[in-house]
Amino acid sequence: TYVIAAPCIDVLDRACVEECPVDCIYEGERSLYIQPDECVDCGACEPVCPVEAIYYEDDLPGEFEPFLADNARFFDQA
Ligand code: SF4
Repeated sequence: TYVIAAPCIDVLDRACVEECPVDCIYEGERSLYIQPDECVDCGACEPVCPVEAIYYEDDLPGEFEPFLADNARFFDQA
């Protein structure tokens, strides 16, 4: 799955939402989140993010690794 990390917080640009072919990017109060079970790993969202908040899970920089669980947790609570 792709993951939305810290740079999205309080930005929520939504360019990624327009690109996602399966509409699996959802809006929280302070960040957008990718539904990991719905993401088809197409990568279309990653280059359009103006703040480079989106990473493939295996490519997450160390400081953003908690966002893998954070994105999944958002949907557990929904
Ligand atoms: Fe949507 Fe593709 Fe991004 Fe997954 S990788 S969130 S399917 S645009």
